[in-house]
Amino acid sequence: MMKFECKDLGMDCDFVATAETKEEVMDMAMAHAIEAHDNMFKDLTPEQTEEMNEKLEAAIKNDEAEEIIEQDETEDDEEETEDEEESAEVA
Ligand SMILES: [Zn+2]
Repeated sequence: MMKFECKDLGMDCDFVATAETKEEVMDMAMAHAIEAHDNMFKDLTPEQTEEMNEKLEAAIKNDEAEEIIEQDETEDDEEETEDEEESAEVA
């Protein structure tokens, strides 16, 4: 799982993108940046945009530590089957 947090770029923003691949996270982060931080991007020179892309890519981290581990705690209690035939006491 890859993760990008907007605040890692120094933004006052709690946007978080997570996806299986870095490419997907990049796409989500870019789409978000263009939508939410449009004013930051429109004044950038192509060089600065390139720099932003690099920063963005560098901010993406592998988030395996936070993956939820499914705990299968199925207790296999073996039921002891008593095969002893109860001899019925005949009175
Ligand atoms: Zn943001």
